[in-house]
Amino acid sequence: KPQQPTASATPPAFGSTGRKLIYGPDGKPCRSCNTLLDFKMATGKPSTAVHSPVKETENPSTKTTVNENNGYSQIDPPDVTELGRSTWTFLHSLAATYPVTASTTQQSEMLQFLTIFSKIYPCWFCAKDFKTYIEKEETKPKVKTQEEFGRWLCEAHNEVNRKVGKKEFDCGLWRERWKDGWDD
Ligand code: FAD
Repeated sequence: KPQQPTASATPPAFGSTGRKLIYGPDGKPCRSCNTLLDFKMATGKPSTAVHSPVKETENPSTKTTVNENNGYSQIDPPDVTELGRSTWTFLHSLAATYPVTASTTQQSEMLQFLTIFSKIYPCWFCAKDFKTYIEKEETKPKVKTQEEFGRWLCEAHNEVNRKVGKKEFDCGLWRERWKDGWDD
């Protein structure tokens, strides 16, 4: 009897960008761990329009696609890049508004937050590496003062920058970037 092709072919290991594809605990491609391009390749869903047969128009002010039927902008859920950028904005903004000198309670709350964050960040492999980073004696969070925390976070971000091949940021400039703004 001829063999029927199996429905579940081996899932691809690499995406179209050449990055390794990351799968979640459910065995499915992880949306917040891959770039959108790779995720769509892995799921065989090349574009949002495939799922929305309604007519779409470009909104010139936002450059997002607007579904004319319901008025919602058809923005894709965040991929690893967008989630990361937004999260760094949040984290550095936390440092920018952290007390100049933190009380023991405030220090303890920030440490708790970072511990929980490192367990629940949606990109699981990013979370795992961040957890390892904050647990290491040499790189554990410094939260006594705003300056200390801002610098530590900048170093933590640079660790990820190195890992993903991005340029390191000059941590002497974290305040200009995230708190005070730049001199004109
Ligand atoms: P981002 O790195 O998102 O930075 C945003 C802005 O912050 C930059 O434009 C710059 O102005 C400023 N900035 C850059 N570096 C610093 C710094 N050191 N200190 C202060 N400000 C700075 N992606 C992966 O592919 N693999 C990973 O393992 C991974 N791990 C991550 C772990 C965490 C905890 C987070 C929050 C994100 C992680 N990401 C990871 C996402 C990755 O770090 C980037 O956010 C993503 O690639 C988008 O990069 P970007 O070029 O927009 O700039």
